[in-house]
Amino acid sequence: MGSANHKKVEDYLTAQLRGDQVEHDTFTADTPEGKFTVHNIIAKFPGSKEGIIVIASHYDTNYFLRKTSYVGANDGASSSGLLLEIANQLRGKIHDGYSVWLVWDDAEEAMKPDGSGGLPQEMPFDQDSLYGITHVAQTWQADGTLKRIKAFLLADMIGDADLNIDRDLNSTPWLEDVVGEAAKRLGYQSHFFARTNQVGDDHIPFMKRGVPCADLIDFMYGYNNVFWHTPQDTVDKLSPKSLEIVGSVMLETVHILDKMDPLPPK
Ligand SMILES: [Zn+2]
Repeated sequence: MGSANHKKVEDYLTAQLRGDQVEHDTFTADTPEGKFTVHNIIAKFPGSKEGIIVIASHYDTNYFLRKTSYVGANDGASSSGLLLEIANQLRGKIHDGYSVWLVWDDAEEAMKPDGSGGLPQEMPFDQDSLYGITHVAQTWQADGTLKRIKAFLLADMIGDADLNIDRDLNSTPWLEDVVGEAAKRLGYQSHFFARTNQVGDDHIPFMKRGVPCADLIDFMYGYNNVFWHTPQDTVDKLSPKSLEIVGSVMLETVHILDKMDPLPPK
């Protein structure tokens, strides 16, 4: 955050969404590294049915790696690119089901070193991260939008060529089951849920507020997660096929939810 390249990413996302119904949620976050402007980008695609499904991805990269060549090809870029393609799929028609809102959120990453990359743990993740998406959740709680949200789907680190999406214990079990069913229908089940994990990610503020959530994350990036939060997180580790798998499963999940009436209790 605060860099010229961060601004370039924002401008790129906004340019790709030209002509769509886009809202910008901009505010100042007080972080252990000082005050920063945080900028969430929200694109709304209408559906025929009352209710909203949110699909989110963070687009920021780690502030504490700013003096390295870090680009976050998988952690930040893969899922943000995927959401742009989902926008391409939704654009220009009324979705036969719930409205789909895409959120590119800012300031997901901790500002201080978070124990990765051999750096010392300085602050717990949940006290120094998720700045952008927390603001979205708070805003939607205050204005009543939250009650209309049927599900919150999150994509993070989904580009790994060796794709193994975790079953996340911090997500909503029945919604994880729907994701598993969607994967099975498409023949992609071998890329899902071989591993179980408990992931602190952008879905936490929505989980805390009672919204059903599923985090689609492959939190084993290279042997022992060795590429995570390092300058080795580069595009050569990724595969377009992985993005296609996760994108297709997300859209299939939306289609299953569109037809589930009523949805299970939270
Ligand atoms: Zn990260």
